[in-house]
Amino acid sequence: MVQTHTHRSGGAADISAADISPSDGASSLVRRMLDAGLLAPTGVLGLYGRSGAYQDVADGIGMMVRRWGASLGARRLHLPPVLARATFAHTNYLESFPDLMGSVHVFTGGDAEHKQLLRRVESGGDWPALLEPAEVVLASAACHGVYPLCTGTLPEEGLTFDVQSSCFRHEPSAQAARMQSFVMHEIVHVGTAQSAWDHREEGLARGIRMLEALGLSMQAVPASDPFFGRVGSVLAAGQLEEQLKIEGVTPIPGTDGVTAIMSANCHRDHFGVPFSIRTAGGDVAHSACVAFGVDRIVVALLAVHGFEPERWPFYVRAQLGLAGTEG
Ligand code: AMP
Ligand code: ZN
Repeated sequence: MVQTHTHRSGGAADISAADISPSDGASSLVRRMLDAGLLAPTGVLGLYGRSGAYQDVADGIGMMVRRWGASLGARRLHLPPVLARATFAHTNYLESFPDLMGSVHVFTGGDAEHKQLLRRVESGGDWPALLEPAEVVLASAACHGVYPLCTGTLPEEGLTFDVQSSCFRHEPSAQAARMQSFVMHEIVHVGTAQSAWDHREEGLARGIRMLEALGLSMQAVPASDPFFGRVGSVLAAGQLEEQLKIEGVTPIPGTDGVTAIMSANCHRDHFGVPFSIRTAGGDVAHSACVAFGVDRIVVALLAVHGFEPERWPFYVRAQLGLAGTEG
């Protein structure tokens, strides 16, 4: 049996999806998506099942990203929703985002411990405390699983990946676009400082064009990650100043402000150093990723074009490979 634990045990995560107030501006979109059957509630905020219609749109977005990846000769990888703990430790994620991560715990006892576990469950006690950490943690970003595959010396042209996985971030929210479990699809390049920077720049432009072709109004905005703690604000300021993270944002009707539905990130040697990746020329490798938040894109499309994809404009359905499926 596998039980997942988050670093921060938040009571807010236990609020039933049915508790989301229809009058709450930010969350009414979730409420309407639940009512329409596009999302299925789980009793945990930000954790949903997806309907067939929702998933068809998500698959269409996946196809669009894959076409771009294929044009770059990217190696396709579908990674599991969990990551080796050793790999996770190398990403330094714990340093910067301890509040977002989740780890996996498992039962490793014998008969006696099993009896104790069942007694604990029956009495409503803290049974997860009887579990042991597994060798895996929940994936926080799709690209994290790519770097250990690059250890050693890169080919002259570097390596490019088309990678996707379900990701977990412990940020329970009633907002439709902020989920705890969501799919991230990334085009990642590991190479020289120049090729990584170029990938970020070209990928940003390409990604924005791709999303505009779906009828979304896009803007590229320099951004920073939500680094943890006081040191975090220094890191965020540096990231912003050097423009290492650019987000593709769009207004989602029914929610406030704009929402990042993609990000284009230059990591410099953040992964090259811990994963011992070198360029053909012998330098420490740099990396860059262009990440699409597939669920956020689906939510944005549903909010903009309506809850019935079969009635979306033809050009949008054509891009997503949905045209013709409704006869
Ligand atoms: P980031 O690594 O934070 O830039 O994340 C990459 C993309 O994943 C973002 O641009 C979002 O589209 C998506 N994303 C990040 N966090 C969430 C979340 N909590 N729920 C849904 N999508 C998310
Ligand atoms: Zn990434």
